[in-house]
Amino acid sequence: MTEFDSQADCICGSGKRFGRCCGRFLKGDEQAKTPEQLMRSRYAAYALGGHGEYLLATWFAPMTRGLAAEALSEKTVDWVKLEVLGKSQKGDSGTVEFRAWFREPEQDALQAMHELSTFQRSAGRWFYVGGEVVGSVSE
Ligand SMILES: [Zn+2]
Repeated sequence: MTEFDSQADCICGSGKRFGRCCGRFLKGDEQAKTPEQLMRSRYAAYALGGHGEYLLATWFAPMTRGLAAEALSEKTVDWVKLEVLGKSQKGDSGTVEFRAWFREPEQDALQAMHELSTFQRSAGRWFYVGGEVVGSVSE
């Protein structure tokens, strides 16, 4: 598992310290209380790498997608920045719209994945259900 300084600014760009933002969720000390918190922590898991187990544990039905923790732990691109564009929550379901900026290996240009993610609360815990790609941008 990738170590990250709990006193450093969180990798999700919230402006909070890692330990008080996504770090506590990745460590399993606390559960995300909102879809946005879960979304940010999942971005942090991808950005740091090595957190495949967390990604699986917070996915509503990962096995049906044939995903494995080892594959999810691999960093295939360099995640650079997260922008949360919108969010909504109604009862036990919620959405978060975001743009995640990344750089592919050996490339200078930044690219962004623009996604509308859906979240579901089950037995008091939030899970990522899936995402709809809204668009992609290159800078
Ligand atoms: Zn964070």
